[in-house]
Amino acid sequence: MRVYYDRDADVNLIKSKKVAVFGYGSQGHAHANNLKDSGCENVVVALRAGSGSIAKAEAAGFKVMTPGEAAKWADLAMVLTPDEGQADLWEDDLRDNMRPGTAMAFAHGLSIHFNLIEAREDMDVFMIAPKGPGHTVRSEYVRGAGVPCLVAVDQNASGNALEIGLSYSSAIGGGRAGTIETTFREECETDLFGEQTVLCGGVCELMRAGFEILVEAGYAPEMAYFECMHEMKLIVDLIYEGGIANMNYSISNTAEYGEYVTGPKIIDDSVKDRMREALARIQSGEFAATWMLENKVNQASFKAQRRRSSEHLSEEVGEKLRAMMPWIAEGRLVDKAKN
Ligand code: NAD
Ligand code: MG
Ligand code: MG
Repeated sequence: MRVYYDRDADVNLIKSKKVAVFGYGSQGHAHANNLKDSGCENVVVALRAGSGSIAKAEAAGFKVMTPGEAAKWADLAMVLTPDEGQADLWEDDLRDNMRPGTAMAFAHGLSIHFNLIEAREDMDVFMIAPKGPGHTVRSEYVRGAGVPCLVAVDQNASGNALEIGLSYSSAIGGGRAGTIETTFREECETDLFGEQTVLCGGVCELMRAGFEILVEAGYAPEMAYFECMHEMKLIVDLIYEGGIANMNYSISNTAEYGEYVTGPKIIDDSVKDRMREALARIQSGEFAATWMLENKVNQASFKAQRRRSSEHLSEEVGEKLRAMMPWIAEGRLVDKAKN
């Protein structure tokens, strides 16, 4: 595995480019602000007329252009709009407006790997994918650290795509933590697998299931929330710091023994079989195709499930309990008015 650090990158390369950051959401606000704070003077944010993100980008001091204007202006278009709209963005605003020999970059491989976008051959196409949420990409940078990034090159028309990518990664803080070289396929398939089966799908279903079982058995929902949801962070912080052994060192022997005897009965081979099936659906393109079809029907099922998820009893209970701990909201990562 090839890992690059700040010392391997020429940060002046990205400073000499006109960078248009498309989108000012989770990743977009982090990239734009980190680039600016690293001394990149030619950064604009590209947003559609009427977008709710315009006021946030302007309040942070950015010039905002329409996607078409920004595409004509930019040497590098960093596409940080939602994956499901990137193919239309390419067709409508990028393909015919970007100058020959310019570059297009992504923070996730879906559009390129699954051929939702077929890029022009005269352009560089590469990826800088932070391995963390955008709000963390910003907060880590601000405290002098960084989130590790993946770099991958799909098209190298300039002969310089990797160098530009490494320079970009350093400017958003990735070079502090390490920039790992990979391919669009590997990033895309592992990222989808991780978020579906472990990080987002797996963990949230596990926590909600635990919460529901305790409530069903007659225990107070507040107790269930503390046990099965709130404490997740405390456990994960210990793993983040030093791995599972570090977490086991901190918890009681009773908890550790329970982990060994009960854990494998919950996450058993049948779970692993279903994880293999999920991976196969990702690799075959079935997941990408289903998600794009969902977008053709205005995300009917996606939006209904988002609403139902937000109405779960654990959300109501959690909100009350967090209010007892006002320090949780201090210095919060997500402030919907700003980022
Ligand atoms: P987001 O939903 O938080 O923000 C999207 C932004 O794009 C918004 O500002 C929106 O107004 C704007 N936008 C939408 N359509 C647009 C268009 N046609 N032209 C210009 N602007 C438009 O998105 P996100 O979660 O930051 O995801 C962006 C990309 O980063 C995706 O490829 C995603 O897979 C990748 N990524 C995200 C995370 C994350 O932490 N959220 C982590 C790694 C990679
Ligand atoms: Mg990911
Ligand atoms: Mg992802």
